[in-house]
Amino acid sequence: MTTRISHWIDGTPTPGTSGRTSAVYNPATGRRTAEVDLAGADDVKRAVASAAAAAKDWRSASLSKRAAVLFAFRELLHARSDELAAIITAEHGKVLADAAGEIARGLENVEFATGVPQLMKGGFSEQASTGVDVYSIRQPLGVVAGITPFNFPAMVPLWMCANAIATGNALILKPSEKDPSASLWLAELWKEAGLPDGVFTVLQGDKEAVDGLLSHPDVAAVSFVGSTPIARHIYETGTANGKRVQALGGAKNHMVVLPDADVEMAADAAVSAAYGAAGERCMAISVAVAVGDVADDLVAAIADRMPRLTIGDGAQPGTDMGPLITAEHRDKVASYIDAGARSGARVVVDGREADVPADGFFLGTTLLDDVAPDMSVYTDEIFGPVLCVVRVDSYDAAVSLVNANQYANGVAIFTRDGGAAREFQFDVEVGMVGVNVPIPVPVAYYSFGGWKASLFGDTHMYGPEGINFYTRGKVVTSRWPDPSTSQVDLGFPRTR
Ligand code: NAD
Repeated sequence: MTTRISHWIDGTPTPGTSGRTSAVYNPATGRRTAEVDLAGADDVKRAVASAAAAAKDWRSASLSKRAAVLFAFRELLHARSDELAAIITAEHGKVLADAAGEIARGLENVEFATGVPQLMKGGFSEQASTGVDVYSIRQPLGVVAGITPFNFPAMVPLWMCANAIATGNALILKPSEKDPSASLWLAELWKEAGLPDGVFTVLQGDKEAVDGLLSHPDVAAVSFVGSTPIARHIYETGTANGKRVQALGGAKNHMVVLPDADVEMAADAAVSAAYGAAGERCMAISVAVAVGDVADDLVAAIADRMPRLTIGDGAQPGTDMGPLITAEHRDKVASYIDAGARSGARVVVDGREADVPADGFFLGTTLLDDVAPDMSVYTDEIFGPVLCVVRVDSYDAAVSLVNANQYANGVAIFTRDGGAAREFQFDVEVGMVGVNVPIPVPVAYYSFGGWKASLFGDTHMYGPEGINFYTRGKVVTSRWPDPSTSQVDLGFPRTR
C-alpha cells in the first residue's frame, strides 16, 4: 500500500479534502514511495483559521517560555538528526553526510533564535521631553507563510520557522511536493518540544495552495525560496495583496580563479561546490572563471578529480553524489549539455556517458570548457552537476562578467593576494561573497540573500534581517504627569 503524506493542522496529521495528490519518489531507485495531499481552497482556509487562533495566544507567551520551547526543540533535533537525514536522503537523493550538513546549518538558526529575549529588545530614551519617555518595541505579525524548495527540505524550513516562531508568529509551511516528509517530521518535533498546536502548520500542495495563501487576508507575510520566475510571481502577487514578502530566487554562482591561486585548492573547491548535492544547491558553483594562464592547469586539475567521485544511492556509505530529483529534471540537465556541445563548448568530461546506476534519476558529472557568455549553459540556471569554465584574460573582465549576469546570489574568488580579494569584494555586485571559500552561506547570526534576480524584496532571510522581517516596530511616547501641571494646549507637541 502506498504511504499517504497529509497536512499538519492544529497539531495533528490532517488528511486533505481536495482529492488531489502528487506522487513522491525515491530518486535513487526511481520507485514511487508515497502520495502527498495537495491542498485546495478548503484546506487553506482551515490551516489559516487554526494558525490565526494559535497566533493570538502565542504572541502573549513570555519570551522565556518561547525560548524554552526553542531550547527543547534544539535538543530534540540535535539528538535525532540521523532520523531526519534518512528521510531527506530517501526523498531528495542527496548523500546522508550532506543531509546531515543541511540539518546542522538549519540547527544554527534554531540556536540563534533561542536568543529571542535579547533579539527582541527595543530601545528606551528617558526624558525625551520633560517628563516624557520614548521607547520602541517589536511585535509579531500574526500568521506568516513559508514556501520552500525541494533542494533543502529541512534547512530552508528551519531558516524560516526558528525566527518566525521565536518572535511570536504562527507559521504555515508549504514545503515542496517533491520531498514533503521532512516538514511533517519537524512538525512532530515542535509538538514534542512543547509548541502549542497551530503555531506550526504544514500545508502540503502546489500552486493552488500557494495562491490560496497569497490571497488570504489573514496571512500577513510570505517568505519564499525557489526559482526566479516563481519568486517574482510570489513577490508581485503577495505585495499586491498587501503582504510583506521576501522571495529568494535562482542563481548562477561564479568562482573567479586568479593566476596566483593555489590551483590544487581551487580545483578541490570547484569539484566540491559544483557537484555536491548533484549541483542542486542555490549556492553551488556553476561557473569557474579562469583568469589568464591559470585555465589549462585548473581544467586539468578539476578533470583529474572527477573520475574519483562515487555516484550512487546516497543512503549507501561511501557515496559522494546521489541522483537528481526527478527523471524530467535529469533529462532537462542532459539537454543543456547537448545544447552546450552544439554551441561550441568543449565537453571535457561528459556526464551523459558516465557509468551510473540504471534505476533512479542519475546523471554523471560534466565539465564544459570554452563556454561563452551567450550560450544557454551560461545564461540559464541548470541546477545539476554541470560546471562551465569561462576563460577571461584579466581581473577586470572577470568582474564585468559576474556583474553582467542577471543572478547575484553567491560568488567566490580564489587568490593568494589579499589586496585583490579586498578589491573584489568591493567591486562585485553579488549578495554573498567567498574569499577562498566556495560556498559562502552566512552563519545564522548574519543574514542570507542575493541581489538582482536572486532576491525580490528588501529583506534577506534569517539572522537579524529575519527578526526584522517577522516583526513590526512600534514606538511608544509616554508621560505620567503630575495632575497639578496638566493643562489644555492645542499647539503641536514639541520637546521641552
Ligand atoms: P520552484 O520554484 O519550482 O518551487 C519552489 C516552491 O514553489 C515549491 O514549494 C513549489 O511547490 C512552489 N511552486 C512551484 N510552482 C509554483 C507556481 N507556479 N505558483 C506558486 N508556487 C509554485 O523551485 P524548486 O525546483 O523546488 O527549487 C529549486 C530552485 O530554488 C532553484 O532555482 C534554486 O536556485 C532555488 N533556490 C534558491 C535558494 C536561495 O536561497 N536563493 C535556495 C534554495 C533553492
